[in-house]
Order: sequence, then C-alpha cells, then structure tokens
Amino acid sequence: MSISTETATASKPTTAFLASQHRLLIDGEWCEAASGKRFDVHNPATDEVIATVAEGDSEDINRAVAAARRSFESGPWSRTTPSERGRLLWKLADHLEEHLDEFAEIEALDNGKPRTVAAAADVPLAIDLFRYMAGWATKIEGTTIPISVPYMPGSEFHSYTLREPVGVVGQIIPWNFPLLMAAWKLGPALATGCTVVLKVAEETPLSGLRLGQLIGEAGFPPGTVNIITGFGETAGAALAAHPDVDKVAFTGSTEVGRLIVKAAGESNLKKISLELGGKSPNIILPDADLDAAIPGAANAIFFNHGQCCCAGSRLLVHRSQFDQVVEGVADAARGIRLGPGMHPETQMGPMVSRIQQDRVCGYLEAGKSEGATALTGGQRPEGSGYFVEPTVLVDTKPDMKVIQEEIFGPVVAAMPYDDVDQLAAIANDSIYGLAAAVWTRDISQAHRLARRIRAGSVWVNCYNVFDASLPFGGYKQSGWGREMGHEAIDLYTQTKAVTVQLS
Ligand code: ADP
Repeated sequence: MSISTETATASKPTTAFLASQHRLLIDGEWCEAASGKRFDVHNPATDEVIATVAEGDSEDINRAVAAARRSFESGPWSRTTPSERGRLLWKLADHLEEHLDEFAEIEALDNGKPRTVAAAADVPLAIDLFRYMAGWATKIEGTTIPISVPYMPGSEFHSYTLREPVGVVGQIIPWNFPLLMAAWKLGPALATGCTVVLKVAEETPLSGLRLGQLIGEAGFPPGTVNIITGFGETAGAALAAHPDVDKVAFTGSTEVGRLIVKAAGESNLKKISLELGGKSPNIILPDADLDAAIPGAANAIFFNHGQCCCAGSRLLVHRSQFDQVVEGVADAARGIRLGPGMHPETQMGPMVSRIQQDRVCGYLEAGKSEGATALTGGQRPEGSGYFVEPTVLVDTKPDMKVIQEEIFGPVVAAMPYDDVDQLAAIANDSIYGLAAAVWTRDISQAHRLARRIRAGSVWVNCYNVFDASLPFGGYKQSGWGREMGHEAIDLYTQTKAVTVQLS
C-alpha cells in the first residue's frame, strides 16, 4: 500500500487514523471480517490507496444482527431511559464537534469533496442532526383515545397508544455524504431506542468507522450500533434479506432500492424506508431575480460535484432568457476550481470513484450522440484522479437520457420552456420526485407551483437548504418515507393500541 502524498498535508490525528488497522464494529468490539478479507480505499483525487478495511460479508452481518438483537431484547440499550438516550446523542454530537476538522479531512481524502465544504456543511449538519434527535428522545409520546365500542353498550374503557421502537434496524448508506448519511440514519434510530447494523458505502467507509470510535467513547452500550464495511452485493444484500432485521433504511440508487424491496418481501416483510434518486427541476420564471437565480442554478447542480440525489439537474428557463441564463451558469462552471479536496482553494473535487467517473462520462457521450451540446465542460481532465469538468448541456429534448435519467455528476441539462402554464407538467415529467426549485418574485406563482410539483422538497429562491427539522424524502420513484424532522421518528417507531376495560 502506498500512502497518498496528500495525507502528508493532513493533520496528525487524521494521518494516524488512516494508518490504523480498520476493522468491523460488532458488539462493541473491533474485529476482522470472518473471511479475513480486506479491501483498498482510494483517494479519488489521485487514485492512490489511503487505507484498507475489512471486507464484511453475510457471516459478519449475522454476527452484527445477533448483537443488535441481544442489545434490543435484553439490554443494555432497551433498558436505557429516554433521557439517557438523549444525553448520549448529545454527547456524541459534542465529540463530533471536537473532531470536526479531522472528519472534514477524512471526507476530503475518502470522498474527494473539498475539506472546506465538509467543515462548513457535512460535519456541522451531522452534529446538528444528532442534537436535534437528542431532543426528540424524551418527546416520543402516544395519545389517549376516547372509544365508543357500539356493540358493548354500558362498558367503559381506557385506550391509549404507545410509540415503540421498530427494533433491530439495518441501515445502508451511500458515498456522497458519508458522515452526514450515517447521522441521518443513526440519529432517529438511536433516539427512538432501536439498535442498528450500519453498512457504510464501500467507496467511503472511513468516516463511519471513525464515528464508530466516537460512539464507543460517548458511552453507547455494546451492540447498540454495529458498523460493517463491505460490498453492496454481499454485506448489503445480506442485511436487506436478514430474517431477524425488523427494518431496513436505505439511501442510494432507485435500482438498488428495488432490490431492497424484493429482499424484504422474500424474507420477513421487514419495514422499509428508501431515499432514492432524483432528476430535480430547477425552474427560473421570467420575473426571477437573475442575479440570484443564475448562481443559484450553478450551486444547485455543482454543489458536491452534482453527487446529490436532489441536485438541480434539469434547468428550465423561459425561452426569452434562456441564452442569458445558460451562459451565466456556464460562466460560473468555467470559474470553478477543480482539485484535490485537501487543497484549500479547491471548489470541486473528483467524482468518488473511477466507476462513477465512467458513468458520468457515459452520459456525456449519450447526450452528445442524441444531439445535446456542451456549452462548457463535457470532458474528463487529464490525470490520475476521477475528475469530470462541470458541464452545461443545451439543445436537449424531453426524451433524451440526459433529461430523463439521473447522472449524479456535475452535469446540468438545460431546456427552454414557452408557456408558464405548462411548467408543472414539464417539471413532473420524470419518474422521480425528490426536489424542485422555483425562482420568482411572484409569491402566488411560487406557492401555486410548489403545490403542483410532485416532489418531497420545493425550494423557492434558494436551493439545497437543509435542516435537521425539515423532512426530506421522495415522491414517486424517489423513495418511501421522510428522513429528518419529526417524521423520521415515525420511521423508527410503531404504534401499539392498548385498551383496558374499566367497567
Ligand atoms: P451507487 O450506484 O451510487 O454506488 P448504490 O445504490 O449502488 O449507489 O449504493 C448505495 C449503497 O447500497 C452502498 O452502501 C452499497 O454498498 C449498497 N448496495 C449496493 N447494492 C446493494 C444490494 N444489492 N443490496 C443491498 N445494498 C446494496
């Protein structure tokens, strides 16, 4: 294994962490995979190996699920009080805050994103999410329900509901926001009293492993959170199909989402929540403030290198302003500094993997062969990293692949529209429904469109605004259920109705 030269610029704690022996977290112990296998983790900016991690598979998943089941059924996690759960989550947030810079470096080296962005967005959002969910731990309540029971006249009852944890939860997360996705999943599961087997993405396993260390230091009992590094087709599939897992929470591609549903259906009908792909329309109305909308449209697609399920990848602009807007977005694209995530001036890093780089470039080729034109970008730069130039595609048509399919890279496909009344239909012409944005000064039009667009998030005069208290999730094939906000608590609890006959 050769260590990337970039690790030399990383801080001592990060360098030491990268060089340590990375194992699986099962029942509070760090252990090798049962198979003894390991796999390499690459720095996407250089293609160099920065660490090796254990390659967990179905046997390790079995051990982890058994530990999570024990902790759920006989304790210690099931015996903790709501207040203790909240306190531990808050403590975890404090620990994370103390190590903010280290996590930002790990994300930069493992995922490729700018360290500055991870330090300003990913890590603070994860901290905030844990604190928000810490508050919920003591506020999960049932209700009392006055009942009538018409076939038992004269009887009196006391009926109430309990909100109880779903149980052992399998969580499968992607590589685009490795730490933040772990936080979105772990926060509500732990607040509600579930126990967890977390399968981190094979491309970006490192921040999840470091978080596992902090989870232990914060004092979560053994078996409460188990963390498995491994591949989707083996470890992920085993978790989705496991008969003793009560729920799977998945974030990733719609394609794999379907496999999760199938595996759940064929095993134990476990509960499922899914946060899947998107092809989000970003709509600029003729009366919009273009000084805000143009940089907003650039941020909508280029933030996190377009590797966001909610990326504003379909840009819809009135024909009268189309050239001005797309030129403006192209100018913004040309001004983006590409480079390794660790470089302080980098604004956009590489794609996460060679596979992802090839996938995005495949879409650029498909766009070209279907008649789209790259106003800027459209190439992979020379060099060993997995970079793709930020790209603005024009001359697009509604049925093109680049308009219909999720590219998951820094590629915006722009389309002009003529009739504002047709906008909702154009925006909704997608199998996805994750997010959308509307740029306008007309408040009524903004709210009208917000109602008519079939998407889980609609932003007005902004994009990519996230908060731990805002529910996030998809309509249509973008998913099932909502993460964050109080709706996330619903995802990890189930309702029990208790009825007592009083007379
Ligand atoms: P991408 O294609 O962008 O890598 P995926 O949906 O394939 O996204 O991956 C998201 C997560 O799903 C990763 O943790 C991956 O290991 C996992 N995964 C991939 N395939 C499967 C599968 N068949 N069953 C369960 N999990 C899977």
